[in-house]
Formats: sequence, C-alpha cells, structure tokens
Amino acid sequence: MEIAELVASKVLDVPDFPKPGVLFKDLMPLFADGPAFAATIDAIVAEHGAGSFDVVAGIEARGFVIAAAIAYATGKGVVPVRKAGKLPRATVSATYALEYGEATLEVHADAFLAGERVLVVDDVLATGGTAAATLELVERAGGTVSGFSVLLELSFLDGRSRLAPRPVHALLTV
Ligand code: AMP
Repeated sequence: MEIAELVASKVLDVPDFPKPGVLFKDLMPLFADGPAFAATIDAIVAEHGAGSFDVVAGIEARGFVIAAAIAYATGKGVVPVRKAGKLPRATVSATYALEYGEATLEVHADAFLAGERVLVVDDVLATGGTAAATLELVERAGGTVSGFSVLLELSFLDGRSRLAPRPVHALLTV
C-alpha cells in the first residue's frame, strides 16, 4: 500500500471538534497500529535522510510521538516544543493564532547548538501558524530549520506558504 493511502486509511474525521465548524483529523489509529506506525516513520526518514538534520523537534503533543520515533530511528536527539509554562528553565516563546483559538509555544533557550539543523515534525499542518511559530522559536534559540514533516496537510489552508523556502513534506495531502 502507498504511504498516503495507508495514512488515509488510519485517520478518523471528527466533525465539530474542538469547536463547531472544525473537522478534526484524528491520527491516533495510525499511532496505535504497529506496522502502520513503523511504515510512517520509515517514510519520513526516507524523505528527510539522517544526513539532512542534527536533531528532531516535535510539537506538543502529537508531534512528540513522531519526533521520538524519528530520533530513535536515525540516532538523533529530540527537542520537545512545548505549550506555555511547562519548561523549567529559561525559554524563548512565541504566541500565534490557531485554526481554533490562540496558543503560546516555548523551547528552552539553550535547546539547540548554534547552527544546528532541526527537522520539525507534527501530525497535522493546517494554517501553518504552529509550524511558523516553531520556526521562529528554533531560529531565535540558535538552530536552523532544515525542513518540516507532517503526516497530514490540509492544503486548502495553505500553511506551507508561511514556511517557505524551507522544505515541507506531508505523507498525505487533502
Ligand atoms: P495550524 O497552526 O493551524 O497549522 O494547526 C496545526 C496544529 O493544530 C497541529 O499541532 C495540529 O495537531 C492541530 N490541528 C489544527 N487543525 C487540526 C485539524 N483539523 N485536525 C487535527 N489537528 C489539527
């Protein structure tokens, strides 16, 4: 099965979550299926070779699951990009608009070595606000974003235009 087809078969559409009008793409069935999850991680690693990044940044919370698996598969470390107030030491933070609401993300100020190449991962790319805020955080913390990888991209929201010219890869685009 093609990877896009596999991801499509493991995503559940949940209407009106977390608020009316939003069609939530629930990827928990993909995480819960061992062979499907392994194929997903392998496909991301095939796209972003281990030589193209030094560390993986995962966006809270579903991005953590993906980032940890990619990091393990490639022998790299993982940096969690967290919601406000969760990190214990000095942070850099960015507040941005979501498809639903507003949010603040943080990373530790010393999370990256100068010029370290960072692969940023999350489950869904919607408006791109979350990924754009993460790009800002990584760069303010001294890293360089080598690319973005998501399982599913909602292309009608055109989030990738906010991330140009960095490469953005989605296993499934709808
Ligand atoms: P955005 O900042 O609009 O690109 O939204 C991306 C972030 O919000 C990701 O962390 C996603 O997990 C979550 N998200 C936004 N829209 C959806 C959606 N329709 N279904 C599932 N997750 C979403």
